[in-house]
Amino acid sequence: MAIKIDGTALANQVNETTLNRVVEMSKRGRVPGLAVVLVGNDHASQIYVQNKERTAKKLGIHSEVIRLPESTTQRELLDQVNELNMAPAIDGILVQFPLPAHLDEVEVTRTILPEKDVDGFHPDNLGRLFEGDHGSFPVACTPQGIMTMLESVKTPLKGQNAVVVGRSKIVGRPMSALLLRADATVTIAHRYTPADVLPVYTRNADILIVATGIYHLITADMVKPGATVIDVGMDRDPDGKLAGDVDYFEVEKKVRAISPVPGGVGPMTIATLMKQTVDLAEWHEER
Ligand code: ADP
Repeated sequence: MAIKIDGTALANQVNETTLNRVVEMSKRGRVPGLAVVLVGNDHASQIYVQNKERTAKKLGIHSEVIRLPESTTQRELLDQVNELNMAPAIDGILVQFPLPAHLDEVEVTRTILPEKDVDGFHPDNLGRLFEGDHGSFPVACTPQGIMTMLESVKTPLKGQNAVVVGRSKIVGRPMSALLLRADATVTIAHRYTPADVLPVYTRNADILIVATGIYHLITADMVKPGATVIDVGMDRDPDGKLAGDVDYFEVEKKVRAISPVPGGVGPMTIATLMKQTVDLAEWHEER
């Protein structure tokens, strides 16, 4: 039986360290601040934002959720971001995506100050990641959380074959950059990878990261025995229950370690967001 990579337990550990750092900071009279901007009424986004707010409160991080109506214009949204850029109480700014279709996500991402870009999507931060820079700067929270998960089960990365299925801005692309920086041999598959070719790559993966949003795309015959598998999917099974992109119960019989859905990547993403908010707060404190 495979090792189950328990994201909830690991997130609790990460959060404990974050809480201690917040307590230390409060002794210096400083509170880390996180601002979350939510535009419109997307149901999933509302739930993500609530979870982030709840965790921030629990850890003593000052959090502001700015809820803007669906009808918000690009100008109004950019003004809001600029206001947060200038606000001394705010260390990290996160604009919850997807934005309503009439708004330009790329421009919004570029407007957030790189030193407040807690999600790590600003081109300055993404560029540093692709440069292979090991310095301290924010990195996309889901992939960064996955790196912590891989470390927690001592997954060798150097010289190993890593396959990332999915190339989204939020997960697949930054994930591949992190694995590359860790000296893995990285392959990225995506929607134009033919269905009959995808298994050729995945069967070669010592580390397999799947972020497609396709329920049970990865079946047992597609994985390498002994692999480490991380499932980023948040899908629904035929009964409507939350499930992943990987057929967990079949795949776990074959692999060394695997993360479940729910209780895997989800909680680690939030824990990483909180950790990076405190990283930024300490960085601002030193200035
Ligand atoms: P997430 O936010 O979890 O990364 P997205 O919906 O933004 O998810 O992106 C889904 C990704 O999955 C895209 O990069 C897309 O190319 C990839 N994808 C979709 N279908 C397949 C498939 N059949 N095989 C491999 N990759 C796929």
